[in-house]
Amino acid sequence: MNPIFADLPTTVFEVMSQMARETGAINLGQGFPDDPGPVDVRQKAAEAVISGWNQYPPMMGLPELRQAVADHYRHHQNLTLDPQQEVMITSGATEALAGALMALIEPGDEVVLFQPMYDAYLPLVLRAGGVPRFVTLRPPHWRFTEEDLAAVFTPKTRVVLINNPLNPAASIFPAEDLDLLGRFCQRFGATVVSDEVWEHVVFDGRRHLSVLAIDSLRDRAVKIGSAGKIFSLTGWKVGFVVAAPAIMKVLSKAHQFLTFTTPPNLQAAVAYGLTKDDGYFAGMRADLQRSRDLFHAGLVQAGFRVLPSAATYFINVDLASAGINDDVAFCKTLVAEHGVAAIPVSAFYAQTPVTSVVRFCFAKKDETLNGALDRLVNVF
Ligand code: PMP
Ligand code: GLN
Repeated sequence: MNPIFADLPTTVFEVMSQMARETGAINLGQGFPDDPGPVDVRQKAAEAVISGWNQYPPMMGLPELRQAVADHYRHHQNLTLDPQQEVMITSGATEALAGALMALIEPGDEVVLFQPMYDAYLPLVLRAGGVPRFVTLRPPHWRFTEEDLAAVFTPKTRVVLINNPLNPAASIFPAEDLDLLGRFCQRFGATVVSDEVWEHVVFDGRRHLSVLAIDSLRDRAVKIGSAGKIFSLTGWKVGFVVAAPAIMKVLSKAHQFLTFTTPPNLQAAVAYGLTKDDGYFAGMRADLQRSRDLFHAGLVQAGFRVLPSAATYFINVDLASAGINDDVAFCKTLVAEHGVAAIPVSAFYAQTPVTSVVRFCFAKKDETLNGALDRLVNVF
């Protein structure tokens, strides 16, 4: 048995959801929305199942979905993409990440990771034979500097794995940070794998900037998206990978032996969904922003120090000023004694973690958020 996986604990999302089920707590841990997703998109999937779109679709994805992804990114992010050579459909962003790391890393290659990082990254990098080099980000701004990059890039750096917007920090790397990263990648010949699954979930009028829009990264980056986050359908697992043709060639080789394809009925529905007008995307953002504001105000009232949430379904509190520096113990007490499940952010670090930050998912109905706030009032 391979120790990288044999010795892994169960993912923190499953652990906290399980504790919430056992205790009957309100689950603001694992990131999934209450919103059932757009009914017309779900209807399309149902029709596609019934009308018989149920056999293997083409390995690279349904042509109409690859075209829809290219059109969507042209409209929303001003990217010019060739759907034939630069777009592939995967079974969620997770498959895309696993495939990209398998395809791009040779054992011994170094991979730059920014912690806090999504919990799937490190095991996948290690299993692909990569040697992790960590840049540590801290609240409240969660940004990196030129010195941080200079300390981790070496001639062995092959891949940089970045998540923007960043889960769990709920922050966005500004253009100047991506430019800086681009300069380092160019100098060291590294490829960026950019997990942009939260690209549509950005607030306060912000617009997403893809790594593919940075000139120095256009042909040395893999952009990963997910229909799960775009349509509040997290269980659908339809991912999009975009990369220059030379990179895409090798990514497709990993995909063909990981899953080969992704359910065609879901692909057809997502192709339809991506053509929705700007009103849908603005409405989704506005709804979530309203939930964020409601929950933020309640947390402040309950006495928490709240960190800014610029994107994602998440908002963080920093407990250091309350003298609390054990986020895991805090979350256990929170679920057991106060009936609210949250995620300790230290779970997203591999070394020298930040241990005072706790993440809540606010993508919930008002009554759920208000119910949780009623319980959180008694914490301090
Ligand atoms: N990357 C990040 C940063 C995520 O937050 C998530 C899910 N929340 C994923 C990847 C997984 O996406 P998918 O469900 O499409 O595999
Ligand atoms: N991405 C979601 C989160 O950050 C959960 C995904 C999962 O359960 N693996 O909460």
